Amino acid sequence: MWSLSAWRRQRTLAKHPIADDMWQRVRHHLSFLDGISDAEDRWLREASVLFLQDKHLTALRGVELHQEQRLLLAAQAQLPLLHLGDLNWYQGFHEIVLYPDDFLSPQRHRDASGVEHEWDGEHSGEAWQQGPIILAWPGVMASGGWEGYNLVIHELAHKLDMLNGDANGLPPLHADMRVSDWAKVMQEAYDDLDRQLERNPDAETAIDPYAAENPAEFFAVTSEYFFSAPDLLHEAYPQVYEQLKLFYRQDPLARLRQLLAEDPVYQAHD
Ligand SMILES: [Zn+2]
Repeated sequence: MWSLSAWRRQRTLAKHPIADDMWQRVRHHLSFLDGISDAEDRWLREASVLFLQDKHLTALRGVELHQEQRLLLAAQAQLPLLHLGDLNWYQGFHEIVLYPDDFLSPQRHRDASGVEHEWDGEHSGEAWQQGPIILAWPGVMASGGWEGYNLVIHELAHKLDMLNGDANGLPPLHADMRVSDWAKVMQEAYDDLDRQLERNPDAETAIDPYAAENPAEFFAVTSEYFFSAPDLLHEAYPQVYEQLKLFYRQDPLARLRQLLAEDPVYQAHD
């Protein structure tokens, strides 16, 4: 069946081809994509082109943005959507603003007695409800490996979370998932992390203690780990890993385990 959207898609892809060697450089930089199938690679490459046509990237002075850098950002942004179908998951925002460095942003927090505290916090990313995403470029460049850090996925997880209202750690779940399961698993893990930090604010927690900030940050940080340190997340909070696997419909831990078992480069680093 002929469809306007499929035709537009093909036309966009034909107008904006990516050279093979450029895509290979992107793949090389983003080692957390190692192990994806050829079909997944093709989808990611096309989805990256379409993403860059759909979103406006605004680079502030000090950020050098060429095609390769744009693709580095787009491919990381599209990884979470690899098996989520062609729905427009990143709807509701059109702009990504790139800062040359971490930035100061006014923070507000209402404590238990109802007092609003405000302070200047140093940030490497922000996602605004109905607004743009802001990313500090050094954080984007530092993302893409298996280190349990991914600024792009972190901020876009907030956008997924905001699809059904405020960021609260509950994105729109699929029909085969249960909100009660999600809530129970996430709450237990969140409470566990919170307790460790309550006992000792300097505790060496299994995942970034920033996850204990609030449920929205818990979802964003565990999404980072899901894609970039699935072994650590699975070891610390296996049920959280399982819920995220149901949500993102992919299994980065299986990819990583296969690389460790079969890829000489990964075996050398183990
Ligand atoms: Zn966040």
